[in-house]
Amino acid sequence: MNKHLLHLVKLSKIDKELENIGKEIEENKSDMRTLERKQDKITREINQEKENLQNSTINKNKNNLSIAEFSDKLENIKEKQKNIKTERELKSISIEEDIAKEQITHANKQIEILENKEKEHQEKIVELEDADKGIKKQIEEEDKVLTKKVKKIEKTSKAVFKNQDKVKKEVDEKIYSFYSKIKKWAKEASVVPIEDKVCTGCQMELNDKTYIEVLKRENVVTCSNCGRIVFDDTINVEEETA
Ligand SMILES: [Zn+2]
Repeated sequence: MNKHLLHLVKLSKIDKELENIGKEIEENKSDMRTLERKQDKITREINQEKENLQNSTINKNKNNLSIAEFSDKLENIKEKQKNIKTERELKSISIEEDIAKEQITHANKQIEILENKEKEHQEKIVELEDADKGIKKQIEEEDKVLTKKVKKIEKTSKAVFKNQDKVKKEVDEKIYSFYSKIKKWAKEASVVPIEDKVCTGCQMELNDKTYIEVLKRENVVTCSNCGRIVFDDTINVEEETA
């Protein structure tokens, strides 16, 4: 078998392994990502509740000010009532008194509503902070598990990287640069086996000339349709020596 082709098959197999290792690491991180997203959501909810609580308190204070204001007014009205001389004055002052009393009643009702809201927000914050603590704990535990898993995967990948270095040293410089160019667009499917007469990269049938070339295994052959490097699937890379 052509030694360049053998190098390319090996190289692409290693690249695929490295790609899979990367994917495996990403897959292992997915639980952590889910937890982090949950934590983000809780943090946003806590902030929202804190803002709501603050708004309720601000509104409550406004109503308290309003009560103080109308209480002063009532005091004034009482003073005025002492010096009432006409029926008209009496009528006008009692309207003023009614309005002030109504305002105070209204403000008190608002305060009651707002205090209930404050309580609700405070309870919700406690609840969310508890959930946040729980998530933090889960993240810490997941982090330990993940670190172990990743370390194990990285150990495996070291061997693959070592193998890659070895093959890179063996491979002809021009052949390697040719492979790199194809790899830019074909990624890990740069060197693909044929199945029957079909290129497994583009799923198209090779023309007869290319097909015969592939079977001969004497040259580095590219697919007549997509340009990927194609080889005969029956090659046992481990047994072949370059
Ligand atoms: Zn093809």
